[in-house]
Amino acid sequence: MDHGAEVRRLLEESGALRSGHFRLSSGRHSASYVQCALLLEEPARAARVGRLLAERLRRSEPESVLSPALGGLVIGYAVAAALDVPFRFCERRDGVMRLRRGFELRPAERVAVIEDVITTGGSAAEAAALAERAGAEVVAVGAIILRGAATALSREPLVLLRLELPSWSAEQCPRCAAGEALAAPGSRLPSAE
Ligand SMILES: [Zn+2]
Repeated sequence: MDHGAEVRRLLEESGALRSGHFRLSSGRHSASYVQCALLLEEPARAARVGRLLAERLRRSEPESVLSPALGGLVIGYAVAAALDVPFRFCERRDGVMRLRRGFELRPAERVAVIEDVITTGGSAAEAAALAERAGAEVVAVGAIILRGAATALSREPLVLLRLELPSWSAEQCPRCAAGEALAAPGSRLPSAE
């Protein structure tokens, strides 16, 4: 089984990838959504996904992993564990991505920036810019899932799975047109965009 097919199976068995008729937090309607936190809920599954993504990155020879909080924390740690390199995270403070908590990057350190899901890649791009300002070298940007055009990134991200999850305005939603019930307010709705 190739990695993409395995990740898709893990997404489905963990309940992270669901089919139905959902109202997303944006207000748009979708026939599917993905909640990566559920994929990584079980430590053994998170470790497996971390090893798969680490394999994609190994050729870049990263000396450390940097992830933007919160989305990249669990997978970033899992990738760092698989590569046996240090893991650090950055967090947005007053609108600016920063390294806090005593984390430091060495000049010329080879850094892999790891996210869970990349849509535009905005957070990953901010983390990469932070690393470069510190004098480090960003050797790869990686994610479990690519579900957009990653327009904020200056490089092609290394991903395990590309997912197209179309959404529609309520007026144009084919599932509404077919009379299918929408996931009701108060049920567990996706927090993804
Ligand atoms: Zn609908």
